[in-house]
Amino acid sequence: RKNVERITTSSHALDDLLGGGLETQSLVEAFGEFGSGKTQLGHQLAVNIQLPKEKGGLSEPDKVAQAVYIDTEGTFRPERIIQIAKGSQIDPDSALRNILFIRAYNSDHQINIVKRLPSLIHEGRNIRLLVIDSITAHFRAEYVGRSNLAERQQRLNQHLRDLLKLATVYNIAVYVTNQVMAKPEGFFAIDQQAVGGHVLAHAITYRIFMRKGKDRTRIARLIDAPHLPEREAIFRITEEGIRD
Ligand code: ADP
Ligand code: MG
Repeated sequence: RKNVERITTSSHALDDLLGGGLETQSLVEAFGEFGSGKTQLGHQLAVNIQLPKEKGGLSEPDKVAQAVYIDTEGTFRPERIIQIAKGSQIDPDSALRNILFIRAYNSDHQINIVKRLPSLIHEGRNIRLLVIDSITAHFRAEYVGRSNLAERQQRLNQHLRDLLKLATVYNIAVYVTNQVMAKPEGFFAIDQQAVGGHVLAHAITYRIFMRKGKDRTRIARLIDAPHLPEREAIFRITEEGIRD
């Protein structure tokens, strides 16, 4: 993969876990229970993408890097973006301006938003990050029961292929969340075989399992990364955002 770039999470430990930050041309899935920090990390990345390259973002002197934030659960908080922007020394108003927020109302809508993103990019928007929070919620709500499982998985897999293609063609980082129950059978989502190497040889998928740790910390574990060891990072969620 050529021209891969990295975005800081604002935690050195989490950046290290990901091999130096969130990569472009990759899809990162954060999965974990309610409150584990998946949405907070999405907010942080949507701000951090706007930092200059030397500070861990992808902005250039004459060209601010922008994020698209697809919210499926109504948990996007502009007030939180303002707090995090202040914590990252970014002007809060411009931080909000450079996040293109879209509420997806069902899985069709979600799929179609992603399919329309190339036209936004061709119009000249410098989109370098896509957040989908959550990627699975609509699919899970609309396809209930065993008999619908195969169709759900098929549509979700096609959606993932669209995302990986977007990531590679436009050199974008894609961060998606997936809420799961603590029990192993709740670990529904992403069929690695379906999105793996034989489908798109150049795209890579990272899965991070997030959970609450002691003293209000969060623990992120990298699962099944093709070329990185499976290990953990500890970070915190503060008023200013994600920190070590
Ligand atoms: P998930 O998306 O995984 O369900 P969130 O990313 O929404 O979880 O994380 C919510 C948690 O983030 C809260 O329980 C709280 O601990 C922390 N949090 C959110 N906002 C703040 C803040 N302004 N200051 C400190 N911690 C915060
Ligand atoms: Mg959330």
